Amino acid sequence: MDLAALLQSLVAIPSVSGSEGALADHISALLTAKGVRVNRQGHSLWFEVGEGAPRLLFLSHLDTIPPCEGWTTDPLNPQWENGRIHGLGANDAKGCVASLIMASRALSAQPSEDAGTAIFAFAAEEETEGKGTQAMLPHLGNIDAAVVCEPTSLQVCTAQRGRLVLKCSAKGTAAHAAHARLGENAIHTAARDIAKLESLSFEPHALLGVTRPVVTTIQGGRVRNQVPDHCEFFVDIRTTPNLKEEEVLRTIAGELESAVTVVSSEYCPTATHPSEPIVRAALVASNTTSSVGSNTTSDWVFLGDIPAVKAGPGDTHRSHRPDEWVSLNELKAGTVFYTNLAKAYYRIKSTEDVHV
Ligand SMILES: [Zn+2]
Repeated sequence: MDLAALLQSLVAIPSVSGSEGALADHISALLTAKGVRVNRQGHSLWFEVGEGAPRLLFLSHLDTIPPCEGWTTDPLNPQWENGRIHGLGANDAKGCVASLIMASRALSAQPSEDAGTAIFAFAAEEETEGKGTQAMLPHLGNIDAAVVCEPTSLQVCTAQRGRLVLKCSAKGTAAHAAHARLGENAIHTAARDIAKLESLSFEPHALLGVTRPVVTTIQGGRVRNQVPDHCEFFVDIRTTPNLKEEEVLRTIAGELESAVTVVSSEYCPTATHPSEPIVRAALVASNTTSSVGSNTTSDWVFLGDIPAVKAGPGDTHRSHRPDEWVSLNELKAGTVFYTNLAKAYYRIKSTEDVHV
């Protein structure tokens, strides 16, 4: 199966988070037919190419979000047209998966001169809470570095924003709307807090820029003729690696009259130092000298101390939108990029080991 047919087959199999089984079966059968030993954990898959150290993980995901409104083509009946394919998950991240499968074939057909093992891992449930990657990681053995394969237009991302979600509760005193001075209006309190949040910003990160809190939902009041005694709103903060979460929290809690509680802080911001071999190898493979930051979260957050970059074919701005697409040229470039990245990484590591 060539690259175009491979991606078309991947997109044609629905794989909304939690229902990736049929897609995992399909990929597993394709690889097994080529003599690859495929491992499976739930709906996540992984396999290895090469041998010995260092061990480099290529991590991507099989799942998609559910189709949204506004598609002008059938999201589950992808067709190639003028070198582009439209379909749910074509860009995020089945294009990456297809490029990785082709890269794995290139690496087995033409093994690198330097020793090394590439672990190709395709996780389930990335779009929900990253459960697939978290369950699979302990089975992958030792990992020296990782490439998180998501659409970045093949730019090398070395810093990724995290996410902190806060619940803010404004308390007031209920009263008849005709005697409003007897009460204390919780919605007015929330409004003052929201105005403060709008003008708040945190110290910018070199690659990711400034961080500002975003108020995303609000709920308050029971009936139209009563001063509300309660108003609740949620705040989403896409944190950067230079910010300490406790300080962000302390600053916000100190500014607001509302009570602030943390709803979610699992997605920590991440960054990899430019001197890490994985960054140098990725820059060599992408023919550039500088890395970029990425605003979206990914399974990178679950990799802990493993030095990692995020890079892949396709464009993040086309993800989670109607008429999502990716081009064959992007996928071909992705295959070459991942193949060269593995080889460059093994080479850099082998020369490093000589110096040690
Ligand atoms: Zn993705």
